[in-house]
Amino acid sequence: MNKSNEKDGSYRDKVSTVDKDGKRVWIFPKKPIGSLYKARVWVSYLLLSILFIGPFIKVDGNQWLLLNLIERKFIIFGVVFWPQDFHLFLFASLTFVVFIVLFTVIFGRIWCGWACPQTIFMEMVFRKIEYLIEGTSAQQKALKKAPWTLPKIFKKTLKHVVFLVFSFAIGHALLAYIIGVDGVRKIVTHSPSEHFTGFIAMVLFNLFLYWVYAFFREQICTLVCPYGRLQGVLLDQNSIIVSYDYLRGEPRGKLDRKKSEEHKGDCIDCSICVDVCPTGIDIRNGTQLECINCTACIDACNGVMETINKPHGLIRYDSSNGIKTGEKLKFSGRIAGYSLVLALLIVILSFLLLTRDAVEVNILRTPGTLFVESNDGIILNYYNIEIVNKSFEDISIGLDLMSPIGSISKKNILIQKNNLMKTTLTIDIPLEKIRMAYTPLKIKITLDGEIIEDINTMFLAPANKLKKTKK
Ligand code: SF4
Ligand code: SF4
Repeated sequence: MNKSNEKDGSYRDKVSTVDKDGKRVWIFPKKPIGSLYKARVWVSYLLLSILFIGPFIKVDGNQWLLLNLIERKFIIFGVVFWPQDFHLFLFASLTFVVFIVLFTVIFGRIWCGWACPQTIFMEMVFRKIEYLIEGTSAQQKALKKAPWTLPKIFKKTLKHVVFLVFSFAIGHALLAYIIGVDGVRKIVTHSPSEHFTGFIAMVLFNLFLYWVYAFFREQICTLVCPYGRLQGVLLDQNSIIVSYDYLRGEPRGKLDRKKSEEHKGDCIDCSICVDVCPTGIDIRNGTQLECINCTACIDACNGVMETINKPHGLIRYDSSNGIKTGEKLKFSGRIAGYSLVLALLIVILSFLLLTRDAVEVNILRTPGTLFVESNDGIILNYYNIEIVNKSFEDISIGLDLMSPIGSISKKNILIQKNNLMKTTLTIDIPLEKIRMAYTPLKIKITLDGEIIEDINTMFLAPANKLKKTKK
């Protein structure tokens, strides 16, 4: 950490995007140039392609990734997960969280800088549009201060129209992962009155994205994102983060070629690393919550080092210990503990996935019904049956009433692959065979002749008639 700032600690008392009167400080970051930025651009092209092409990729007729929270239907790599698989979903989520924790302990916020959708959309889509329409950071600042002339109105209008178009495109792509491509297509192609709720939700969601990227911007990372706030507990002295080498950089000072530079560190206090920062912070103050590890300051500083003939890496990916001692990453007890838990969770998850039932059947008495008695002494009960076919083939399951002797209205039911079927059935039993008002029933479920499940349920009969029968 920079010694002077460490002493006064002034940077801790303020947020870089808020002035002393509490007003928002608008950030106009300079466009980064450098090898890391180039790599990030390629990674973002890849991720954006996956985002937009993804909803159209189908595996066995299913969208490869669907997280339909509304209908509680999830498809991951073409495999359908139903509400009945909630335990699997819970385990998968838990495993994912542990993975994120472990990853963060070792590699810091690499996710934020390279793969987080917020950073990708903001820095690689909307920021680029802004540079294209409003020009460089200096030109953007000048435009903001300029009076509302026709060229300014034109540029601002054009920017916001393009922002709206891109927000709607991204919004539709994201929604395709929630309600499916067909769901989005229906809302887009049909009259709004046919899908009024869906239509309004879609427009609001897209407008929300526009508001985020046009106005709220980096505040998502610095004020809202819970992952950012977790950094304080996840990072330790060995985590690899974007760090300033204060041992090499300090004491900083403006470059003066006429004077001897021997007493100075390598930092020439040019502030270019601050100018490129999309969250407006000075990395020389040390690890900060606002740092999304976007690497823009690394590229900027490397460029400066080249011009003053110093080696790269005054700002670099390194741990706090690495900067202090020159040590490389250590396999700490914390990393070992998280790795063990992660390995255990992966084993349990794999076991649960491999032993997942291909078919699940539930039979329950239809709520709100009692029984129906026919003139010829037959008692009839209604049931709801729910069958989930998690396999990739259409199947036909058989239903047999085991006890007591009676008959079931549906002996075979066909269910399409990766589908859920809800239907009703009736069971009737002659009154003389019934001994109790509540008779336990067992229904045998078969698939290709093999018993896959025995389902227990109840059968209701008129208690007063049973007494007469017994006499
Ligand atoms: S870009 Fe490098 S040299 Fe310039 S202020 Fe930042 S750390 Fe110092
Ligand atoms: S300090 Fe550097 S890595 Fe962190 S957000 Fe700013 S530019 Fe990106």
